[in-house]
Amino acid sequence: MQTIYLDNNATSKVADEVMEKIQPYFCNLYGNPSSMHTFGGQIANSVKIARQQAAQLLHCEPDEIIFTAGGTESDNAAINGTIASLPHKRKIITTRVEHPAVLHVCRELENHGYNLVELPVDRTGQIDLNQLEDELDDDTAIVSIMYANNETGTIFPIDRIAKMVKEKGIIFHTDAVQAVGKIPLDLSKSNIDLLSLSGHKLHAPKGIGILYVKKGTRLAPFMLGGHQEANRRAGTENVPGIVGMGVACELAAKNLEEENNKVKILRDKLEAGILNSCPNSFVNGDINNRLPNTSNISFEYIEGESILLMMDRHGICASSGSACTSGSLEPSHVLRSMGVPFTAAHGSIRFSLSRYNTQTEIDFVIEKIPPIIKRLRELSPFVSKDF
Ligand code: PLP
Repeated sequence: MQTIYLDNNATSKVADEVMEKIQPYFCNLYGNPSSMHTFGGQIANSVKIARQQAAQLLHCEPDEIIFTAGGTESDNAAINGTIASLPHKRKIITTRVEHPAVLHVCRELENHGYNLVELPVDRTGQIDLNQLEDELDDDTAIVSIMYANNETGTIFPIDRIAKMVKEKGIIFHTDAVQAVGKIPLDLSKSNIDLLSLSGHKLHAPKGIGILYVKKGTRLAPFMLGGHQEANRRAGTENVPGIVGMGVACELAAKNLEEENNKVKILRDKLEAGILNSCPNSFVNGDINNRLPNTSNISFEYIEGESILLMMDRHGICASSGSACTSGSLEPSHVLRSMGVPFTAAHGSIRFSLSRYNTQTEIDFVIEKIPPIIKRLRELSPFVSKDF
């Protein structure tokens, strides 16, 4: 059976170009970049090139890039590292719709006595900027607001937010794990101090990430040991991962606009095809400010998990809620925060596309979904027979 992979916000295929470049670093080019010999120096040079490739994508300096083990580590390091470097400040501001890699760190700090503000969102998933401005004060150590939401694709006005936060002299972090590679980002023109990204969301391997730290930003080291990553993140580098991240960033920089236009056309076709043939379904998120690859659709009165299982029989992969929280029967904290009714939040499916999807795949999905929804509605005790 073919696999139609529409779950790219959970993880993405490693690009062939990436795979080809990283393979030698397991078997032939296995030296330690910290070694004094020429062999080690060659590897250190590969790490240097990857740092430059990442910096080019983000429009920042190579020495503002710290390689980490993924988005979760970058988020933890940004928040905990800032808090540790500003011990007199006791307030943290974030939103209710962050990924757990941010939300759980903030809540843990709240358990340790910090004053945590989780900003609410409206029906489209956007925060109220006036409310944010009112919360900014001298006691605030960090504001952490995601660039784009992993479940709905809603894009926050991050440059405006960063400017507002910076004007008050407060550190601003953004979790850009879902944004990088999907929309253009220019850190040279932005007030962002700290930015997290993850390799496996942009066709690099799992277990590699980046924390961008703007020059001059105070951030306590988050892994102690050797001198790697400018003394901030000790540990022998994940060289294949770093090389792969570099190539993935280079590919994203080169092809971002063209590929994402193509992805958006497919996403819009999929969405229209489903909405036109499935009554009582609607799109969640900010329709006008959304990642080009993401469509979160609520099918009222049926279970997302049942839809996933029936799609799976046709080889169609998607998510209900986020991959990290699926498996729990609680509806998504993001959709609930947006005020999506319980019966619709439960029946939500996130489709997330990539450059590897095709028209033929989308046509297949548009053909298979309506009968699945119809069948599940027929079985649902909550549904009138008019559906
Ligand atoms: N932040 C967001 C918005 C994400 O979507 C994810 C992964 O789903 C993460 C952080 C965690 O990244 P990683 O899986 O690389 O730890």
